Amino acid sequence: MSEVAQQLQEIRTRMAAACARSGREVDEVTLIAVTKTFSAERVREAVEAGQVDVGENRLQEAEGKIPLLPSFLRWHYIGQLQRNKVRKVLPQFAMVHSIDSLRLAQYANEVARDLGLFPQVFLQVNHAEEETKTGFSEAELREQWTTLMALDRLEIVGLMTVPPAVDDPEKARPWFASLRQLRDELALVDGTRLPYLSMGMSGDYEVAIEEGATHVRIGSAIFGRR
Ligand SMILES: *Cc1c(COP(=O)(O)O)cnc(C)c1O
Repeated sequence: MSEVAQQLQEIRTRMAAACARSGREVDEVTLIAVTKTFSAERVREAVEAGQVDVGENRLQEAEGKIPLLPSFLRWHYIGQLQRNKVRKVLPQFAMVHSIDSLRLAQYANEVARDLGLFPQVFLQVNHAEEETKTGFSEAELREQWTTLMALDRLEIVGLMTVPPAVDDPEKARPWFASLRQLRDELALVDGTRLPYLSMGMSGDYEVAIEEGATHVRIGSAIFGRR
């Protein structure tokens, strides 16, 4: 078995244990293998081990790999999305996790109409309001919610976060819990369906699952250090 296959097996086992601890079903949580900086050859090892969902944070890097890998892969766009990349990202990615402002959401909605698409997107929340990160503050999201929900071409499926870096995964737990609470609150607004939470990376995915993550984005724990 390849090293990548072994790591994937270990992670899937830990994910299942985290699901069991929190009374959730294993199939409620999607593992996204984050392949940034790793070659298509390394990604292929993961695919041979059964991996289907893969994540990239740069369009150009993804475009180098997509043609080299099986077409059944589901690509997730997880990095900061510039306006001038939207037209190319929407048709090539199954989901965009990083819609980080109302302005970008409105623009993506226009582009989606032009292209005849109904893309599934997450709204990225910067609830620690870190200056180095983009995303909606909780207050902005509440304030802009009705406008966001009225965008007719974007299917807003959930919230995403990259919480402040911490040395101990337990310290990330409050951020994950607060993202879930925010989701639960927004989901009470009339007509909202908001099933997904994209949260948890190599160092803290088990805690994120215990707090309700439906999509975990894992790179280095699968492929090694970048
Ligand atoms: C790189 C990246 C990840 C994966 O990080 P690891 O620590 O390698 O698991 C997850 N989410 C985003 C947005 C990333 O850019």
